[in-house]
Amino acid sequence: MAKILKGKPVAEKIGQDIKMEVEHLKKEGISPTLVTVIVGKNEDALSYRKMIEKKGGLFGISVANKEFPEDITEDILTNEIENLNKDKDIHGILIFQPLPRHLDINRIKYKIDPRKDVDGISPINISKIFSGEKDGIPPATSQAVMEILDFYDIPLLGQNITIIGRSLVVGRPLAMLLLHRNATITITHSKTKNLKEISKKADILIAALGRKEAITKDYLSPGQVVIDVGINVVEGKIYGDIRFEDAENIVDAITPVPGGVGSVTTSVLFKHLIKCIKSNSN
Ligand code: NAP
Repeated sequence: MAKILKGKPVAEKIGQDIKMEVEHLKKEGISPTLVTVIVGKNEDALSYRKMIEKKGGLFGISVANKEFPEDITEDILTNEIENLNKDKDIHGILIFQPLPRHLDINRIKYKIDPRKDVDGISPINISKIFSGEKDGIPPATSQAVMEILDFYDIPLLGQNITIIGRSLVVGRPLAMLLLHRNATITITHSKTKNLKEISKKADILIAALGRKEAITKDYLSPGQVVIDVGINVVEGKIYGDIRFEDAENIVDAITPVPGGVGSVTTSVLFKHLIKCIKSNSN
């Protein structure tokens, strides 16, 4: 049976470090504050925000909320973001996506101050992640995968790692983070040929394709470490991208869904908030 790489202890470890940092910062008169930005009616964002507020409370971090109407213009939203950039009491900004269709995240992402960009969407941060600059902030989900691999001491150097999915929030930045750790990376996507064979050959397989349990036993082989980034909600139930029942009988180790990568991501956002505060005060 595979070892289950639970997210909870990883999140707890990150949480302990954050609490210590928050105590130090408060002694220096800094009260770490994250602001969330929600545009329009977005039930998923509202429930995610609730989780963030709860976790922020546990860490002693304030979470402020900005909500804007569905029909806000891009100019007004951009202005609001620029005001948050300038606000000295706000240390991190998290914009919930997707935005309404008339708002172009590919323009808006240029407006967020990279030094407050806790979820690594700013092109400056993306560039820093590609070039390996230490003060770059990666998207929280890609960093959450790194935290899990490191917490469980999974060796990366020289390992063949296949990532299924090439999005800017998971697949691509994660490939860079792993490359900087001297792994050999294969990024695959919906047009990849022979995905089953490629996946089977990997030492570490990371699934981030957003297809409920699409990765079955045909993609897996003994000895692998398997990370399931997928969150697929079907009739109120959460499923991963990997069929857990297949994987647990084949691979060496696997992250569960729920309770895996997703449970670490929120803590990583706060870790990034602390990183923002510390690098801005240098
Ligand atoms: P996305 O933007 O939709 O990207 C999905 C990627 O998977 C694309 O590159 C796509 O290829 C590829 N893909 C789709 N179907 C495929 C197939 N049948 N075979 C191979 N590749 C395929 O999704 P995302 O935002 O990266 O999210 C991926 C998953 O992670 C989702 O389930 C999402 O809910 C989850 N997620 C979890 C967290 C967390 O905290 N755990 C955070 C964010 C996202 P093309 O590029 O060719 O279209």
